[in-house]
Amino acid sequence: MEVKEMLYEGKAKQVFATDRDDVLMVHYKDDATAFNGLKKGTIEGKGVINNRVTNYLMQKLEGEGVPTHFVEELNGRDTLVKRVRIVPLEVIIRNISAGSFAKRFGVEEGIVFDAPTIEYSYKNDELGDPMINTAQALALKLATPAEIETIRTLAFKVNDVLKAFFKEVGVDLVDFKLEFGRLSDGTIVLADEISPDTCRFWDSKTHEKLDKDRFRRDLGNVEDAYHEMMKRILGE
Ligand code: UDP
Repeated sequence: MEVKEMLYEGKAKQVFATDRDDVLMVHYKDDATAFNGLKKGTIEGKGVINNRVTNYLMQKLEGEGVPTHFVEELNGRDTLVKRVRIVPLEVIIRNISAGSFAKRFGVEEGIVFDAPTIEYSYKNDELGDPMINTAQALALKLATPAEIETIRTLAFKVNDVLKAFFKEVGVDLVDFKLEFGRLSDGTIVLADEISPDTCRFWDSKTHEKLDKDRFRRDLGNVEDAYHEMMKRILGE
């Protein structure tokens, strides 16, 4: 396998072409941003942790019947993935109130919901990823009705699998963001990453935050939290 030109550079990752038309290589960086790029920094070792954690969870999800873009982990920071066209929706599932949900609806963080919520943002940095409902997403032709139905079903399935898994390792899965993509034949698969950058993880006993909120809110011990999550997930 030969790595070719960089196709895209985002806040936390770079994407490269390979000699296979249907396969790309993702490279995970230590760069961290928050608040739509307003806050910038580095989290030492984050790239390796997010790469390894994402790949572990993607393979677990595949085993539970969730199709993903994962192909092969090459090394600490590099992974081969299937080429997809990303559906420009961020899908957010919540089990416990936190972050923008608590702020928007004027409630405290930590309310455990009877059933998970789902919400969508329109992936558009210039607009600041505004919240969007499914009727609006359809009006803008961001996805078809069948795709939205598939995405919703898969997102709740991901929550069921991950919530149970994290409970076993002493972590409450508070909320998380998913992205989906279309393979060349149109199949919807889970893409992007699942990591402490994109999930809220609270220690089940102490309720200590073990995710990017430590960076966003200047809580300190950011690297320790990412390491602790890798240890719990990968058992090392
Ligand atoms: N999230 C993300 N990328 C985003 C926005 C949110 O990965 O651009 C994740 C975030 O880490 C959290 C969940 O989605 O686990 C819900 O985030 P929220 O809407 O509360 O926004 P935030 O408070 O993070 O701005």
